[in-house]
Amino acid sequence: MSEIIYGNLIAEKYRLKIRDEVARLKASTGKSPALDVVIVGEDPASQIYVRNKEKAAVEAGIRSTVHRLPAETTQTEILTLIEELNLDPEVNGILVQLPLPKKINAPAVVEAVFPSKDVDGFHPVNLGRLMTGERGMIPCTPKGCLKLIKEVREDLTGLSAVVVGRSTIVGKPMAQLLLNENCTVTTAHSKTKNLAEVCRRADVLVVAAGRPRFITDDMVKEGAIVIDVGINRLENGKLCGDVDFESVLPKCAALTPVPKGVGPMTVTMLLDNTVEAFCRQNVIERNL
Ligand code: NAD
Repeated sequence: MSEIIYGNLIAEKYRLKIRDEVARLKASTGKSPALDVVIVGEDPASQIYVRNKEKAAVEAGIRSTVHRLPAETTQTEILTLIEELNLDPEVNGILVQLPLPKKINAPAVVEAVFPSKDVDGFHPVNLGRLMTGERGMIPCTPKGCLKLIKEVREDLTGLSAVVVGRSTIVGKPMAQLLLNENCTVTTAHSKTKNLAEVCRRADVLVVAAGRPRFITDDMVKEGAIVIDVGINRLENGKLCGDVDFESVLPKCAALTPVPKGVGPMTVTMLLDNTVEAFCRQNVIERNL
């Protein structure tokens, strides 16, 4: 029997745990974890993402402040705001919503955030820590994907894992997380030859390519765990993933749907990273 991994339900469970943890932290320290989000310009998708993050934070008891800056904001103005937030002891997590307007040097902005407050986990210091296996902030989407995989199978040691996609925010950190779990990892990308054959080797297949339904059943190993990160909007306005859900589901052990799969876990891991940042900044051991 194939399992549908409903990320929305698993995310709900985590959010309740985080809400309880935040309440306990508030009771013991008198302070709530605080997340500051910086959004520049009017990109409609970004506006929705930021609203969702703000709502989720508030529901978890996390203090959330959104800094909405006009599209004309200069690089210096953004960096000045980030410096203020870096130095503000009341701010535990800083998230700069991407993409930034084209004239802004996005990597410079990402690198301006203190690594200890970088709840997106995109700062090179945090990505480096992921490589060395040190404790750092883990990017939210791959962190959420790993939690979903572990809902199906706790010990991944020795499994063959394939990640399709090599972006810095999903594919590369995902591959590193699976390597840290003792998987034998292959990263596939747009230049990979014989993609179907590569994917068929995967006990764990994570797809983050942004290509609607392009992973079909002939590319999936019988009994694989398949995580579909893709979010694609079809012409009819509906969302779909990178995996052809109908054909792949009967063949695999477990598969995430789109929507209600990885997306809700991404936001949940942002909350988790904010609590993590708060605890580290206040030298509190987490007991999750
Ligand atoms: P990206 O465009 O930065 O990277 C896409 C990657 O896929 C590239 O590395 C490319 O080499 C690879 N790729 C493209 N076409 C391919 C092909 N035909 N065969 C093999 N590899 C191919 O995208 P991203 O930011 O990593 O996002 C990937 C997808 O995941 C998008 O649909 C995005 O919307 C979605 N996403 C979802 C969440 C979430 O929370 N659910 C978060 C981030 C991204």
